[in-house]
Amino acid sequence: MLKPVATLDPFSDPAPFRDALAEWFGKHGRDYPWRRTSDPYAVLISEVMLQQTQIATVLGRNYYGRFLDRFPDPPSLAIADDADLLKAWEGLGYYRRVRMLRETARAVVEAGRFPESLDALQKLPGVGRYTANAVRAFAFDLPAAVVDGNVARVLSRVVDFRDTVDSPAGLKHLWTLADQLADPQRPKVYNSALMEIGQTCCRPGVPDCLACPIAQFCKTREPETLPVKTAKAKTTQVESHVLWMRDSEGRVLLHQEQGKRRQGLWKLPERKAADVSGLREIATHRYGITRYQVTLHVHQAIPTTPIREDEVWQQPEAVASLAMPSPYRRAVEALLKES
Ligand code: SF4
Repeated sequence: MLKPVATLDPFSDPAPFRDALAEWFGKHGRDYPWRRTSDPYAVLISEVMLQQTQIATVLGRNYYGRFLDRFPDPPSLAIADDADLLKAWEGLGYYRRVRMLRETARAVVEAGRFPESLDALQKLPGVGRYTANAVRAFAFDLPAAVVDGNVARVLSRVVDFRDTVDSPAGLKHLWTLADQLADPQRPKVYNSALMEIGQTCCRPGVPDCLACPIAQFCKTREPETLPVKTAKAKTTQVESHVLWMRDSEGRVLLHQEQGKRRQGLWKLPERKAADVSGLREIATHRYGITRYQVTLHVHQAIPTTPIREDEVWQQPEAVASLAMPSPYRRAVEALLKES
């Protein structure tokens, strides 16, 4: 592949490196809604949303805008009840994140202000070094480096780092490099630029080095082999069996989760494979979650199918307002449309 040879060392003189990033970002930086704000609460919401969800998904369905319309500030989020909270996060998954955000909102309301220091930010529930520094840089424009997956890839290529980037030692090293290079004058622009280079030219696999503004600082000769990551855990296949059951009034049988991870979310009632062996399978949905590949088998219940005490009949019109994991939402909506 075509890759320019490095002629400058950003560590002996970081100024030209920072200038190159700022100049590129001035011309090519994208206009995301969270880049138009300096409200630390709004920045925190965007950072947490983007932790496990792609930018295109967050923007495409306007999750960010809708969440801020519903909960525009820490006081409104601090008093959110579970149903509202989960509904506002529906489709984003990893619901623990939004519960943590509510805890953070409560802590901010109690303190009377949003903290600015790294230490104080890291004391907020669910806020680690990356998120704390992102709030410092993007909301307060304070000197702070950020290392997310994109930045880790760019930096590992710039220095030709051949150890694993996701091991504790590898991460520690990357944070040290990031701290050395971070721009104390333009932290918001610098970090935005570095992250965006990771999303555009310095993408995974084969990067577009000819379009890269920091190619002259980049040491690696084999960028497509970087970053080195620890081997992923193997995917585990999971078969999940659920019932589709409606009563004479057309109501749908649902179950509200009580388990820790998805507490409060509504799902179709789950059964063991043996319990549904005589029932017709009417829909199949496949989805991935962390290292699990789940196949959701939906079975048509019959009037004699036993139901459980904690399962609830819901009017079809009410179903839209209940918080539901995306695969279940898709299954229920498709079946309601058919009937
Ligand atoms: S795109 Fe990535 S690998 Fe290529 S020159 Fe830029 S930083 Fe280096």
